[in-house]
Amino acid sequence: MSDSALFATYARFPITLVKGKGSRLWDDQGKEYLDFMSGLAVTNLGHAPDAVKDALVQQLDQLWHVSNLFSNPNQEKAARLLVDNSCADAVFFCNSGAEANEAAIKIARRYFQKVKGENRYEIITFNQSFHGRTLATLTATGQDKVKEGFLPLPEGFRHVPLHDIAALEAAVNDKTAAVMLELVQAEGGVIPVDPDFLREVRALCDRHGILLILDEIQTGMGRTGKLFAYEHYDVEPDVFTLAKGIASGFPVGAMLAKEHLKPAFVPGAHATTFGGTPIAMATVVATIETMLKEKAVERAAEASTYLIAQLEEKLSALPNVDQIRGKGLLIGILCNGPVAELIAELHNRGLLVVPAGPNVIRLLPNLLVTHEEIDTAVSLIAAVLTEQAAVKSVSP
Ligand SMILES: *Cc1c(COP(=O)(O)O)cnc(C)c1O
Repeated sequence: MSDSALFATYARFPITLVKGKGSRLWDDQGKEYLDFMSGLAVTNLGHAPDAVKDALVQQLDQLWHVSNLFSNPNQEKAARLLVDNSCADAVFFCNSGAEANEAAIKIARRYFQKVKGENRYEIITFNQSFHGRTLATLTATGQDKVKEGFLPLPEGFRHVPLHDIAALEAAVNDKTAAVMLELVQAEGGVIPVDPDFLREVRALCDRHGILLILDEIQTGMGRTGKLFAYEHYDVEPDVFTLAKGIASGFPVGAMLAKEHLKPAFVPGAHATTFGGTPIAMATVVATIETMLKEKAVERAAEASTYLIAQLEEKLSALPNVDQIRGKGLLIGILCNGPVAELIAELHNRGLLVVPAGPNVIRLLPNLLVTHEEIDTAVSLIAAVLTEQAAVKSVSP
């Protein structure tokens, strides 16, 4: 748009949203939408959840910001909640997913170079992965499109095909520090990692004495029907990262790690001005406490079973639908062609969804989504796909 003072870094949808509550959003024309994207897996409790809003308003009256040079009870409480409900023993708070992954990459390098006294620094990631847009995290990302025009890239990253344990084994060398992956490749097309493969990756990491880092930025915070996606597997990471769903829309990232990583991050090793401020942490605490109190994760798992059954029933016979895949409420509908027009038509009809790559419609409803909302969404998706199939069958 030529009259915009913004960089054109996004090809934006032609919709201006001005209000949100629960699963509903409204645009500046007063049109109502059913939200099946949740700000890209961010508003996991729906828009403006009351308990989080109350905690935020209360904190706004107390104290907004304090330097990390002072102790911060909200930050302690948020970290304690995360540690008590995960396999991790320590947390570093920052402001975004990319920063959380930067912290993960940094702690892996520093652990070997300062704690173990080994010159290990390479991180192995997977083709089609997505890990962020900073120089290190776009280098970690297994997609060329995010790297174009940004050379030279930082050293120390290798990529191998997902689900190819021989290729991973071949990529490990005496410089390898960690293997890093998402448990559902989300931006890469909603591709879940096979449990046997993850077990083999964990065993390989143990055999070589290297770290397993899980990027749970999209899969974490209940999104897959467990609080963290690794709980679906009998595998624990050494390090994992969170952001998107952790604070109901407040910008927060977190890097979590086990006890043995603690000596790698000592005073001066890593820092942030805004990470873990009192207002940010009030939203994290309220988000997690609400998730636990409302049994949001269990409800997401139940809603997922219903959503997948409905999608299978209404879509699987359509000639333009190839596969329904994903985990929990991170679901992809793989179509046999580009989905951009389908998505625009769904927006037109009041259902907000996003793509994951060119051929996948991605569904990310909030964790408290009702069966009625699922019915509405599935019937809109079925109608649009059925109409497209009919048009395709008559045109050459
Ligand atoms: C969104 C995302 C990121 C990057 O998070 P930002 O907050 O946009 O920096 C990294 N990894 C995964 C898996 C993501 O989904």
